Amino acid sequence: MLLFRTIAGIRCYLAQHQLTKKVGLVPTMGALHVGHLSLIQRARRENDIVIVSIFVNPLQFGPNEDFQQYPRQLQQDSQLCEQAGVDAIFAPTDAEMVGGNNQELMGNGQGNQAPITTTVVPPAAMTSVLCGRSRIGHFQGVATVVTKLLNAIQPERAYFGEKDAQQLAIIRRLVADLKIPVEIVGCPIVREASGLACSSRNQYLTSQQREQAQGLYQGLLQAEKAFRAGECDRTRLVDVVQKKLAKFLDIEIEYIELVDPNTLTPLDKVEDVGLIAIAARLGSTRLIDNVILRNRQPIVAIDGPAGAGKSTVTRLVAEVLGLLYLDTGAMYRAVTWLVLQSGIAVDDAAAIAELVSQCQIRFVGNGKDSISPQIWINGHDVTQAIRSLKVTEQVSAIAALPSVRRELVRQQQSIGKKGGVVAEGRDIGTHVFPDAELKIFLTASVEERARRRYQELINQGQEDVSLEQLQQAIMERDTRDSTRALAPLQQADDAIVIQTDGLSITEVSDRIVSMYHQKLSEPG
Ligand code: AMP
Repeated sequence: MLLFRTIAGIRCYLAQHQLTKKVGLVPTMGALHVGHLSLIQRARRENDIVIVSIFVNPLQFGPNEDFQQYPRQLQQDSQLCEQAGVDAIFAPTDAEMVGGNNQELMGNGQGNQAPITTTVVPPAAMTSVLCGRSRIGHFQGVATVVTKLLNAIQPERAYFGEKDAQQLAIIRRLVADLKIPVEIVGCPIVREASGLACSSRNQYLTSQQREQAQGLYQGLLQAEKAFRAGECDRTRLVDVVQKKLAKFLDIEIEYIELVDPNTLTPLDKVEDVGLIAIAARLGSTRLIDNVILRNRQPIVAIDGPAGAGKSTVTRLVAEVLGLLYLDTGAMYRAVTWLVLQSGIAVDDAAAIAELVSQCQIRFVGNGKDSISPQIWINGHDVTQAIRSLKVTEQVSAIAALPSVRRELVRQQQSIGKKGGVVAEGRDIGTHVFPDAELKIFLTASVEERARRRYQELINQGQEDVSLEQLQQAIMERDTRDSTRALAPLQQADDAIVIQTDGLSITEVSDRIVSMYHQKLSEPG
């Protein structure tokens, strides 16, 4: 593993690889813990090169905050990164990142009030709520340094924790507004066994304070429970948290608020989704935590290797549950139809990017009464047309374009906003719907998949292939699918594996349906 202190160094290293390899960046302030490690592991799975930046950013600390005291332990962090398979650490000096020396910035006690660098200012509506109320200038400091990191490293993806929900929302907005070409990946909060969210600042807590600190999550859990029982009103949800926290005498609440997790606008009630966020002090240590409340039916995400029966099973599960079968394949076909229809050459990636960024796909007539929904694109019913030979011939080339994939993932996520969706793919559970309530990884041995395919071909009257040839082809396809740059096959950590050898389609579907009902009946 390499360690770089300068932008010149890391850029030179990346210049040797970046044209062909995907870079994942995990920005941190060091003092790494298992929360950081979860981001690193996710980045490791999804990219060729993983960079962890370690920089205690002076711009994000206020004059009376813990900048001087913040734990700095590069050697220990390096060991953790090395073990986690990180390729390089970027640990710049203050002068390198904020263009001045730290004494000038912090030593005069002015902290982030006197930045001597160009500053990125996110929308006030996002920075003046929650932590922004007491941490004046904090999110400008974060936005400035994150922008610099993204510009210096130009990663394909950057990973941030949902623990810092306000930061995540602001960075998503920043990247969208400034058109920075990076995918921001939000990762779930990692907690200690007690429920306390992992944080570098937990090091400051005495054992008694640590004991009390679990109250934050208990309060949030109580709100989640009330929400699941039908409570959507802000005042009552906040009240539930407050009542629970009152039992933990050392906790000094700074705020408990209900906001929209994307815009951070305060909510009076949860319609589709809400974020309850807390900041509190234990002694002089400031801790934050949050929980997302989603008013939606569950999402079932089914991934797995080719030939494991995903699409047949997914269609059947959706039919039995009366949910939308989100036929992602049909969406790629619809875009292919649109490209062919518009007369754009199938290798004109730029023109296709323009076309797809403006297209609108809809599924019409889903649910129990309609097993096969119609698919519409830009106001045309293309249900039949997308099955044509011409579309079939071109669809994989079109689906391999990053711009097409990006737009369709966005539309799939938008269709899934209210839940009630069953979807299948290679990375539906890890990438498209990482917060799906039920994730299934459907698999079968190579032999079984070859046998099924063989039987299909025999049924179609094609008898000129051998089982061995099919096995070989399936193994090669598996390798290709798991190593491809765009949407590789991935099993989510929290997916339930179903080995389908010897099981019929109905048996597999029955299992998934009963897991779904079990999930629905689980208490919060
Ligand atoms: P920090 O070093 O505190 O700036 O955190 C670096 C990144 O790790 C941020 O994106 C945090 O949101 C994320 N992170 C910190 N703690 C956790 C946690 N307990 N679970 C998940 N992500 C976390």
